[in-house]
Amino acid sequence: MTHAANLGFPRIGAKRELKKTMESYWKNEISRSELEQVGLELRRRHWHQQREAGIGIIPSNDFSFYDQVLDMTATLGAIPERFGPADGDIDLDIYFAMARGTPEAPAMEMTKWFDTNYHYIVPEFTKGQHFRLASNKALDEFNEAKKIGLTTRPVLPGPVTWLSLGKAKEPDLDPLDLLEDVLSVYAELLGKLKDAGAEWVQIDEPVLVLDLSDKQKEAFRTAMRALSVSGPKIMLATYFGKLGDNLSLATSLPVDGLHVDLVRAPEQLDDVIARIADRHLSLGLVDGRNVWRSDLDTCLEQAERAVKAIGADRVEIAPSCSLLHVPVDLDQEKTLDDELKSWLAFARQKLGEVAGLAKALNEGGEAVAAEFVASANANRARKASPRIHNPAIAERLSRVSPSALNRQSPYAERRARQAQIFKLPAFPTTTIGSFPQTKEVRQARAANRRGDMDDQSYGAFLKAQTKGCIAYQEEAGLDVLVHGEFERNDMVEYFGEQLEGFTFTRQGWVQSYGSRCVKPPIIFGDVTRPSPMTVGWSQYAQSLTSKPVKGMLTGPVTILNWSFVRNDLPRSETCRQIALAIRDEVQDLEAAGIAMIQIDEAALREGLPLRQDDRPAYLDWAVGAFRLAASGVRDETQIHTHMCYSEFNDIMPAIAAMDADVISIETSRSDMELLDAFAEFEYPNEIGPGVWDIHSPRVPDAAGMEDLLKKASRVIPADRIWVNPDCGLKTRGWPEVKSSIAHLVTAAQAMRRAA
Ligand code: GLN
Ligand code: ZN
Repeated sequence: MTHAANLGFPRIGAKRELKKTMESYWKNEISRSELEQVGLELRRRHWHQQREAGIGIIPSNDFSFYDQVLDMTATLGAIPERFGPADGDIDLDIYFAMARGTPEAPAMEMTKWFDTNYHYIVPEFTKGQHFRLASNKALDEFNEAKKIGLTTRPVLPGPVTWLSLGKAKEPDLDPLDLLEDVLSVYAELLGKLKDAGAEWVQIDEPVLVLDLSDKQKEAFRTAMRALSVSGPKIMLATYFGKLGDNLSLATSLPVDGLHVDLVRAPEQLDDVIARIADRHLSLGLVDGRNVWRSDLDTCLEQAERAVKAIGADRVEIAPSCSLLHVPVDLDQEKTLDDELKSWLAFARQKLGEVAGLAKALNEGGEAVAAEFVASANANRARKASPRIHNPAIAERLSRVSPSALNRQSPYAERRARQAQIFKLPAFPTTTIGSFPQTKEVRQARAANRRGDMDDQSYGAFLKAQTKGCIAYQEEAGLDVLVHGEFERNDMVEYFGEQLEGFTFTRQGWVQSYGSRCVKPPIIFGDVTRPSPMTVGWSQYAQSLTSKPVKGMLTGPVTILNWSFVRNDLPRSETCRQIALAIRDEVQDLEAAGIAMIQIDEAALREGLPLRQDDRPAYLDWAVGAFRLAASGVRDETQIHTHMCYSEFNDIMPAIAAMDADVISIETSRSDMELLDAFAEFEYPNEIGPGVWDIHSPRVPDAAGMEDLLKKASRVIPADRIWVNPDCGLKTRGWPEVKSSIAHLVTAAQAMRRAA
């Protein structure tokens, strides 16, 4: 018989219970045992829910108080020295210290988990590092599930992925050289799990969908040989893409099962079947990365192909990856209309689909006829719905000529014209857009949403905030001002709420890192802009000052990358639709007298495909979308863009191709090193390297900022340099902002004097 399996369940809780409890614990409001109790309740609840949904193979150790990679780091005893003696116990407080830092010991680094918006804590490696089994979390949670009658399949990040995602702290250390030592701890843990009754473990090795070095491939052979000897059977899980050239490697490893992602890479099914030999095959058929209801008939057809080829007993039906990346439960959404809701599936609904597919295979279509009919009807209705298709936009996009992607004149000419108009000093000063979202601002917004503050009073409140912010910036001596973004809850949601084709959930939270969750908008249909979105605010702000106020927009690629995107249209097409809407807004801003417009592309790099081969195509359409959004204006209108912390080296040609008149980037923490990429590339346009790390409450002094600017002017011509913070100031408090901006202006003035 075919089993329904799950690879991982969201851990935050349907009402973000884990977030709230963790934050109370960090504030010393509750005890550790209270925190642990909530963890236990969540695990139990989630196990029950999976069992009730009809899942036969249920994971354990997918729960985490912060991050599954950090859990593995703790399990292997890989505690950086600054967090205490190498042989001490890893308790929850050391664990949180590693994740969040302490006054004495800075936190471990955090970075994005593949191409998701989940962030993991980066393991740190040193030469001769000692590994030992330092946490029994995986074993304890397995035993915990056993108590409620479940034999789970524990999940562990695999050794090659764990090492590959970590960072050597010494230049001549290759993390893979630590493999042997790490393997002995894995083996010890697997042995214990087997003794406790685990029949299978799920070893997650998503690096198998990346371009691998020969050394990594060899590491896989060594690792799986070592782990297959004495432990439970291994289900080797790959996800987030196709195995591609790693297929023969993956199917030559001595493991008992292989999980493949058939949502991102349905085309690999036949090749995988052909090479699976006598292993189990776990079919990742239900999308673990997006919120759409599955097309069950198509999934069933794929599953039947596998069953026919290798027999029902060796096939498992599963989501494409852990369900960590989707919201918990659609049933909680009381404000979405029924039609839209019928197109969606969150984690719990997806498990229902997985179980339904397995049941159809085991008992025949009759057993689940109603579910399949409902699914087919919903998908058919979605395809035909006039809410999704707006022929006018397709028609308009088809008429976009290539010249719409170009500014009227090349940069050099624009620069000369803009210099004449703006007459800015050398080293002009500005900010990235937002000013502090104080408690007052957030409370007013909440009151307005609840209906306790009418739109008129709320509008007046926001106007007063904006006015105060403009007055402050003038007083501080900044050269280019912003309106402060007080009216915005979030840089994507604000636009999504005003565009057609977007919808929003109430509880559709997804873990981003630690206790931080995001609630991405859902793009369900063709995107259009019914009316201007920001013009009123920009115009109002500009009316208060004779200095230029930047119009502030979020770019099409960032809106796309921070949303759940429809799966019935290529991402590139949806992105072009958004770009057109932003283009209209840019033109309306210009017509309203706004002379500088910033189009933030904070997340452009985030969308970069995992495989090298797929990158040029993405960069091509992403840059095209930005240019479509930005190019509808006169030469005199200055287009700015902003990008948060990114590796720029390998995407420099794309950054230059965006052709923004000014780009601001996050650089202060890297000590301006990120600028080297721009210098080497001889980036021709103007650039504002951040001189103030806005992620920290520390107030930087003027001398430090001046040093950074001097450093920058050694690699970038001084007449191209702007002076600004690393990013928006919405998370900072006014006192720090005022001191830091005063220092920033002083630093710029010093640079001008020295020039
Ligand atoms: N304009 C936005 C702000 O200042 C940009 C934020 C970002 O890049 N993440 O908040
Ligand atoms: Zn930023």
